[in-house]
Amino acid sequence: MSLDLPSDGCRSTPVLKERGQREVFCGLTGIIWLHRKMQDAFFLVVGSRTCAHLLQSAAGVMIFAEPRFGTAILEEKDLAGLADANAELDREVGRLLARRPDIRQLFLVGSCPSEVIKLDLARAAERLNQQHAPHVRVYNYSGSGIETTFTQGEDACLAAMVPTLAPTAARDLLIVGAMPDVVEDQCLALLSAMGIGPIRVLPAHRAGELPHVGENTVFALVQPFLGDTHAALIRRGARHIPAPFPFGEEGSTAWLRAIADEFGVPRDLFESVIAAPRARAQKAIAAQAAELRGKSVFFFPDSQLEIPLARFLVRECGMTAIEVGTPYLHEGLVGPDLDLLPKGPVISEGQDVEKQLDRVRAASPDLTVCGLGLANPLEAEGFATKWAIELVFTPVHFYEQAGDLAGLFSRPLRRKAILRKEAA
Ligand code: SF4
Repeated sequence: MSLDLPSDGCRSTPVLKERGQREVFCGLTGIIWLHRKMQDAFFLVVGSRTCAHLLQSAAGVMIFAEPRFGTAILEEKDLAGLADANAELDREVGRLLARRPDIRQLFLVGSCPSEVIKLDLARAAERLNQQHAPHVRVYNYSGSGIETTFTQGEDACLAAMVPTLAPTAARDLLIVGAMPDVVEDQCLALLSAMGIGPIRVLPAHRAGELPHVGENTVFALVQPFLGDTHAALIRRGARHIPAPFPFGEEGSTAWLRAIADEFGVPRDLFESVIAAPRARAQKAIAAQAAELRGKSVFFFPDSQLEIPLARFLVRECGMTAIEVGTPYLHEGLVGPDLDLLPKGPVISEGQDVEKQLDRVRAASPDLTVCGLGLANPLEAEGFATKWAIELVFTPVHFYEQAGDLAGLFSRPLRRKAILRKEAA
């Protein structure tokens, strides 16, 4: 088997770079999926009441007896005196850790307010580490909405952990990026069935299971928004296995294939391991693709999943991409997906929202993928939209989820057709 690499992919397409007003969520959003994944971690946002509201509404109806995230609210008096804010933070952390001995990893998460007042959370983490080590490891990262988009929260969190990972000389495979447990299990089962191992994952469920890293570590990313984590791992000497991201049948096969080749897995073993799930994925995608084939799609920049998803929709579902916008274009990460995405769409990086709205109105696509803030106004103008954030909250990686992934895009088209019929 060889990859069908079109010679006219989008890697050499000139990128339309824009900088202007943006419509995206901030990096605090990542706490919602990260706190589920890391079971002995606590995320303490150092922010305002707005940050607390965002977290509560993003977490929806989940009410925990013992939640694993919270907000240390910066009051006006804190804004006036940084010394007080630091002392207050130390006191709050002390109280929290005394009450919750189950917490082994504490993340101080910066926000717009903490950045504006220049509260040094790196120093705070250092100070708190000295007080609470070895029982608790304290990290810090920024989830601020200033100049960041919502998936960067996970990237910043994982990148903060990399320098603290213990060294190793072992040739381990490291899978990087948070996936729902059931999807992670599928991924590990496929790789293990090919005889690949030992396999570690970042983020790990618990502090005691954190991977080690060194010059013999090879790593594969499952999310295209992990640019800083990628750079941090390279700095530790690890080597990246570039591959299309595991969305859809083709992406999953190419991703697994790149790892299998790295570990010298015989071709017939590889084919026999993937045969059944691959066939299930093809069948599930075909059922959804009937409604997507021949339709056009326009991506606003939001989740950083846009390029791999455009590749999936065009090549596996028969859609036409008009514009594929991404907040950041990291060729070292999404290059293999750009190779596979046939030439044609505008590839844009960054955002100037008014100009982009003009372009979407002129193009009038069948489906627009965008953030929540743009979806309602665009729906009111008659566009069918898909909320980009759903693509991160829904299990969409690998073979067994490929049909659901296609379904996320066919559903808004189906809903629009029904509404149109009712209105006629
Ligand atoms: Fe708003 Fe900034 Fe807080 Fe995010 S970090 S909720 S953008 S104030």
